[in-house]
Amino acid sequence: MTIDYTDLYLDGRWVAPATNAVIPVISPSTEARIGSVPEGSDADIDAAVDAARRAFDDPAGWAHWDGKRRADALAKFAEELQARGEATANRVSSQNGMPISLARQFESGFPALLLQYYGAMVAESEDEVRPGMLGGSTVVARSPIGVVGAIVPWNVPQAITFLKIAPALAAGCTVVLKPAPETVLDAFLMAEAATAAGMPPGVLNVVPGGRELGAYLVRHPGVDKVSFTGSTGAGRSIARDCGELLRPVTLELGGKSAAIVLDDVDLAADIESFFGATLLNNGQICWLCTRVLAPAARYDEIVDIVTDLARNTTVGDPLSDTTQMGPLVSQRQRDRVESYIATGQRDGGRVTTGGGRAGEQGWFVEPTVFADVRPEHTIAREEIFGPVLSVIRYTDEDDAVAIANSSEYGLGGTVWTTDADRGARFARRIATGTVGINGYANDPTAPFGGIKSSGMGRELGPEGLSSYQNVKSIYLDVR
Ligand code: NAD
Repeated sequence: MTIDYTDLYLDGRWVAPATNAVIPVISPSTEARIGSVPEGSDADIDAAVDAARRAFDDPAGWAHWDGKRRADALAKFAEELQARGEATANRVSSQNGMPISLARQFESGFPALLLQYYGAMVAESEDEVRPGMLGGSTVVARSPIGVVGAIVPWNVPQAITFLKIAPALAAGCTVVLKPAPETVLDAFLMAEAATAAGMPPGVLNVVPGGRELGAYLVRHPGVDKVSFTGSTGAGRSIARDCGELLRPVTLELGGKSAAIVLDDVDLAADIESFFGATLLNNGQICWLCTRVLAPAARYDEIVDIVTDLARNTTVGDPLSDTTQMGPLVSQRQRDRVESYIATGQRDGGRVTTGGGRAGEQGWFVEPTVFADVRPEHTIAREEIFGPVLSVIRYTDEDDAVAIANSSEYGLGGTVWTTDADRGARFARRIATGTVGINGYANDPTAPFGGIKSSGMGRELGPEGLSSYQNVKSIYLDVR
């Protein structure tokens, strides 16, 4: 049975879209059509922004509720999401191939956690009063920034959506969300949860569509802030538009992070964490460490361990509990990954496992490891967004730092060592927004984001909330 929607969630209601255009949803494992939603048009974005604007400007509305009241509403929203947790995980896995065990953590668990985390943050927040140096004092008042245009990709659709909308809603903003066309069924289920939770009209609106629709939302005069996660190319174009408009923007873009294996490592002991940092979600996570930097003295041994890891990965139906790796999201994405594998071989990389397709049907690519990759090779520089690792040799710590930092990206990174203090010292030398020692995890409390071509701004933590707030200084006792 397919899942088909005919209406859009706008202004707190399910309403007929402005056109008859439809987005079909295709399973990446079976290539069968599994559902559809209406494709949003510019007119639908106009209606959504208008609803969000009215909700934001209402003097008795969401933006003016106290933090505790918004936190209570978000707690109800979280409950409704939790009630749909298994269905959400199922829809995400069916649409983008994420292994169901991972979807249960990232896609059903994390969104509710973020609503609770940011709800608690605003429920307790009070204006800060700072004693002045010139006499008097200053109230530092924080107010919601306004209507937020949120644009998300398909790879971890619910978690990434809530990195944006949980702090935005908690801050008192209203939101127009544009999900990626590949993953829309989860977004509509999320809208059902919002309806059931009684979220006020216009506070959250969902309009699915492609890049032109996203670009229209970015430039819309009724939008006060843009929050984007996706490719660096799209991010540059959005940054240009927002620069012209002087519109605040948060950009979470691509990555080519390094897993730096130090010479004292016991990699076999941490192999599960290493999988999580390098091959999770079929290689389709922005912060994955797809460059493995190995010391020359232990190079062959590290290549063997990484090769065994990839070779022993269970590839198959994303809906099976035992699957560790599913298909890539689309035929286009598989073509792209295969073309990088061919380039890697042409440049002199040596495939130690994988390199081909897995199975007869669906967009499966075998987990692939390249040895003898040099830092200047294309596969060591460009984001592949698939299960392809490059093992690069380094001579000493300075050489490892130089190779790690030679990337145009700077999003994630990991250091692998039996000496955690040494790892932490080393981590400070890596030019990146986030780095893990012997593992990697996005904790809600820890600011997440990149430098260089990986974007600007931070999500998660209190920093994630403040990016949806204006700061106003109110001078007291100034004579
Ligand atoms: P993409 O940039 O093609 O699309 C992402 C989203 O933006 C989609 O909703 C798309 O419709 C929309 N979009 C595309 N071009 C646009 C434009 N010019 N204006 C407005 N909206 C536009 O990316 P993708 O291929 O779907 O996703 C994979 C990319 O996302 C990878 O590069 C990955 O690294 C990145 N990503 C980054 C993070 C992060 O937090 N840094 C997280 C996940 C994914």
